[in-house]
Amino acid sequence: MERTAFIIGLGLIGGSIALAIRSEHHVRITGYDISDEQQKMALSLKVIDEVAPSIEEGVKNADLIVLATPVLKTEELIKELCQLELKSGALITDVGSTKKKIVETASCLAEKDVVFIGGHPMAGSHKSGVEAARVHLFENAFYIFTPVNKSDTRHIIQLQNWLKGTKATFLELTPDDHDRFAGAISHFPHIVAASLVHQLANLDGDDRLVSQLAAGGFRDITRIASSSPTMWRDILLHNKESLLTLLDEWLEEMEKVRNMLVHENAEAIFHYFQAAKSFREGLP
Ligand code: NAD
Repeated sequence: MERTAFIIGLGLIGGSIALAIRSEHHVRITGYDISDEQQKMALSLKVIDEVAPSIEEGVKNADLIVLATPVLKTEELIKELCQLELKSGALITDVGSTKKKIVETASCLAEKDVVFIGGHPMAGSHKSGVEAARVHLFENAFYIFTPVNKSDTRHIIQLQNWLKGTKATFLELTPDDHDRFAGAISHFPHIVAASLVHQLANLDGDDRLVSQLAAGGFRDITRIASSSPTMWRDILLHNKESLLTLLDEWLEEMEKVRNMLVHENAEAIFHYFQAAKSFREGLP
């Protein structure tokens, strides 16, 4: 019998995962989204084969369930899955940008004959919606799994096989490490980008010319501030502890920069930029 993958949340990431699965497997792909428009679009772009009438119906025959909604919704959906009849042996994963709370919530699935493995494909875009979905979105990116026990190796291989069309590099981390690292390299920079845009907007109130002058560097560093506010609200609320620590460290860092400038400490300012430049240039 044909295997079935069920994608819940037919946006940029859910759509791209569906396309990647289809590129390597002859499977039936069903989908569900609270937005009727996204469902229709996913069907017409042939990202999915059919729309499930409900989550309850969709999960019944699914061999693979992918949760691709904003992370607070993903938690709610996992709780819902815990109450539903799922296919024996089904693999369940998510694509959320945070892992600790999601993996904790998914512990209720352990009582069922299914396996949950948290996942996070570390590539994306500031665009949203299924129209922006691309089969190659994750190519050469890291795709992190956060299995909670080591005996899951067989299932991780199974999941990697489902997702091999992503052409991503698979990696395993603990949910804690994932959230700390993702906090530093993705979530916190997002806060900074949004804050820079707010600073410009405040200045713009006095003189509209400043926005017109904002090009090059400003646009590069703030591009991610155009991402979905719903998605980022959820990520901040989920990764609160890591982000509060990073915010405190950043404030200390800014205080250091402030002092260097107040005292016109040219040497310290030079070294500040030089050290950043050399670390940045050493990044792979
Ligand atoms: P998106 O806005 O493009 O898609 C999310 C979809 O989920 C929308 O179509 C929305 O209607 C749907 N949805 C919301 N609540 C739902 C519900 N209760 N039931 C069914 N569908 C529902 O967002 P996206 O960029 O695809 O992000 C999805 C997930 O992927 C998020 O958890 C995000 O953290 C993660 N992620 C995003 C990126 C990125 O760069 N965008 C990268 C990696 C991971």
